[in-house]
Amino acid sequence: MKACPSCNTAYSGDQWTCPHCRYSFQVLRGHLAFAPDRALESEGFRPEFFADLAALEEENFWFRARNRLIIWVLRQYFRDAKALLEIGCGTGFVLAGIAKAIPSIRLAGSEIFSDGLAYAAGRVAEAELFQMDARRIPFDSEFDVIGAFDVLEHISEDEVVLSEMYRATVKGGGIVLTVPQHAFLWSQQDVHACHVRRYEAADLMRKVERAGFVVERTTSFVSLLLPLMYLSRRGKRRQRDNFDPANELRVGGLVNRLLEATLNVEHCYFRLGGRFPMGGSFLLVARKV
Ligand SMILES: [Zn+2]
Repeated sequence: MKACPSCNTAYSGDQWTCPHCRYSFQVLRGHLAFAPDRALESEGFRPEFFADLAALEEENFWFRARNRLIIWVLRQYFRDAKALLEIGCGTGFVLAGIAKAIPSIRLAGSEIFSDGLAYAAGRVAEAELFQMDARRIPFDSEFDVIGAFDVLEHISEDEVVLSEMYRATVKGGGIVLTVPQHAFLWSQQDVHACHVRRYEAADLMRKVERAGFVVERTTSFVSLLLPLMYLSRRGKRRQRDNFDPANELRVGGLVNRLLEATLNVEHCYFRLGGRFPMGGSFLLVARKV
């Protein structure tokens, strides 16, 4: 169902005009825009990163390994899901991975920046894409699963987003989240990525439960690489003028493959039921019961 942001009426059908108050949305750069006033500027991300990101993702160990983890979780916990929404889909790298692995699922992706949607549309032609502010999701019991992969840490009002995700999820469905973890890893990398925070596991779990969900599975990941990450981030605590945030992801050939192999080992342990207590990132699966 769709939920009118103006009068809160829930309605169905293909049309995006509220039958009660006639509120409708405009189209911006070819995509339905739910929050057009915020499409071109926002404090949560730098839109110019999209070009960098799109060039990096396909080969980079971190994005490849995270996709593998997300797809495994979807197959394991949301086997019967018919519709998925990814919030903050960026350049569409995750959606494209899901489309390839689980072709039967109806895909939707949202992004606050219109710029990202153009890349996403090129990567996953079959996905429904719209410009949206995650603090105002115009859906009610619509999606079997909603994912937000390294998105919540960009948003001050993360609890508002989680409540909106709850409303937009069907009963029996759920959410999959990944976030950067541990305040002690905070560095210029986070500042430049426009992070508001790095999470602690208990903090995120509490917020997810407060929104109404029941937490089903959690683990840290990027755990075996944590010492390496700590050393790398420790050197980035101070402000530098020539700081390039994309540098951390520009790792070449052999190193890239070794890092990906390490994340794959973690992944195997997780599939066997294992759980890491610490790691650079945190994964959470929760259900609306
Ligand atoms: Zn309305």
